[in-house]
Amino acid sequence: MVVHYPGRCRNIPSGGGLVQAYCVKCRTQREVKDAQTVSLKNGTPATQGVCPTCGTKIFRIGKA
Ligand SMILES: [Zn+2]
Repeated sequence: MVVHYPGRCRNIPSGGGLVQAYCVKCRTQREVKDAQTVSLKNGTPATQGVCPTCGTKIFRIGKA
């Protein structure tokens, strides 16, 4: 099994829409595919999308 280490994150522009979130299935940080900003019940902004590798729904607190 090939493991990809996220060692090339430095060229990600801040605010460029590329969000990472923890995927429980891959057990690592993944780019959020189809990311959309949502609000939690208490008004906290969050980003929701799917893992591009396994398709599991992933979620992170904070705007995209
Ligand atoms: Zn995954």
